[in-house]
Amino acid sequence: MSRILYGQVVTGDVAFGTARHYSTRLDINKHHIGPDSVSDERQRFHIARLAAIDKLEQIESRLSQRLASEVTEFIHVHRLMLADPQLCEQIDQLIEERQINSEWALAEYGDELATVFSQMEDDYLSARMDDVRQVIKQILHQLHPEPFEPASSGDASLERADTLVLIADDLSPADLSLLHEQGIAGLITEHGTPLSHTAILAQNLNIPTIQGIANARQLIRADEPLILDAERGIVLVNPGPELSTQYRQRLQRHSDPELIRLSREPACSRDGRAICVEANIDHPQDIDHLDEQTVDGIGLYRTEYLFLNRKELPCEDEQYRAYRGLMNAMDGRPVTIRTLDLGSDKQPGESQAPIGSNPALGLRAIRLCLQDDRLFMPQIRALLRAACGGALRVLIPMLSTSTEIFQIRALFDQALNELQRDGLPCSSDYQLGGMIEVPAAALSTRTFARHLDFLSIGTNDLIQYTLAIDRIDHQVNYLYDPLHPSILRLLAMIIKESAQENTPLTMCGEMAGDRHYTRLLLGMGLRHFSMQSAKVGSVKRVIHDTDIQQLVDPIKRIMNATNPARLKLLVEELNAL
Ligand code: PEP
Ligand code: MG
Repeated sequence: MSRILYGQVVTGDVAFGTARHYSTRLDINKHHIGPDSVSDERQRFHIARLAAIDKLEQIESRLSQRLASEVTEFIHVHRLMLADPQLCEQIDQLIEERQINSEWALAEYGDELATVFSQMEDDYLSARMDDVRQVIKQILHQLHPEPFEPASSGDASLERADTLVLIADDLSPADLSLLHEQGIAGLITEHGTPLSHTAILAQNLNIPTIQGIANARQLIRADEPLILDAERGIVLVNPGPELSTQYRQRLQRHSDPELIRLSREPACSRDGRAICVEANIDHPQDIDHLDEQTVDGIGLYRTEYLFLNRKELPCEDEQYRAYRGLMNAMDGRPVTIRTLDLGSDKQPGESQAPIGSNPALGLRAIRLCLQDDRLFMPQIRALLRAACGGALRVLIPMLSTSTEIFQIRALFDQALNELQRDGLPCSSDYQLGGMIEVPAAALSTRTFARHLDFLSIGTNDLIQYTLAIDRIDHQVNYLYDPLHPSILRLLAMIIKESAQENTPLTMCGEMAGDRHYTRLLLGMGLRHFSMQSAKVGSVKRVIHDTDIQQLVDPIKRIMNATNPARLKLLVEELNAL
């Protein structure tokens, strides 16, 4: 039977596929077995264990084609642990002696080891408990038929994985990076919001995504055919041939050659003002999918993704290679590399750092970096070495006080001296900029502008912190509003004050890539935009169709409006001009 489910739009594409359930939680079903079932149960365990080894082998070989060997190393270690005879013996013994099922035996084994590991004084050894837990989880996943199965070997199965639409409770950005490697056609989540880092990553990876369909895994059965219309935020379950044909025709219309042509032209308004349009990227390899002719540079590279899904943090050399590679690929055009924005929903490594009671207000981004030299210094050194390779802009996330700027400058100077002393090629020829994403930073625009070479507005966080709305909490997401009068006032103030200080200003939050706000932002005086590459064409189209001089009066009316509904109407009128 055909059905329609409604969720929240994350990214504007359509995906066709069959449903696969995926859970980030594993509910373990523990039960006793009879003496006659011991041998079958042991066999069940070993089949699952071998399937887990097989799966890791495939993931390892796929990832190794794209990622550095350090990243795949942890998968390799897990594979060896799965083949460990001691693991097999212990589980076999537990199944036989206690007459319990494999899931229960694995849980018991995990608990026993957890006690042993927790008593170890060596930090390195005690951290290996994470490996044990993950290895157990790999087997449990195989024992449970429900979770998403990534592609097995061969091209035919790759095709199969590419037509899977994953239905999950929620995903972390790290989970999504890994699942993307395994190939998925689309993503539906029960929780999460379009402004979460997971959602932004899904957009950058071009995975059609809808979030916030409560109980989606109950409403959609595994293997049901789906059309995921992420442009409208709807899922058509069992759509039937007629609807499928309509959607396929719509998809063809989407690859509009006019938009492609336009996106390759420099952005210029109808009255001749040049506008800078740059791209946001999350992974250095995203550059391979970017048509460099369409953008004036990289306005935001989120380096933290280099730190996710791995045990050991990337060393200075690995970071240097990633940053330098990006700059080489951009061939002299500016590249904005943001320092680590870890913390909150983006945790480094496998051993999760303690999360504060309110992660978004806690030890995140520059706060974390300034507290942890071992994390920050290799990045600073890698950046200063990469600065030899072109026009580097270093962007600092989550600044909230000018003291942080002085601390950062001192660390960069210290690193430069050390690199020169070590005889490593490096350069002081880079620009230092700050994200304006905390209300305190917005209200300090003038001061920040005097101490920094450029500023960049991160609307995703600026809106979250100004309106006190957690961007990953779907219960309050309906209040997330870029057109809230207080947001518009803050934006106008930031634009005006940075212009008065002659400090270049970009916007790199999602608002910059939403064509519904392009004209408004142009009218408010913004001239530099950075966005996901998929949005470049539609934003450039609005820029080309806009006479900025004509916007003065409508913008005044919008800025004076206090009633949110009237304000939205005025923005619609502006877009219709
Ligand atoms: C922002 O907050 O607008 C931003 C670009 O940073 P992120 O989305 O990575 O937090
Ligand atoms: Mg941010």
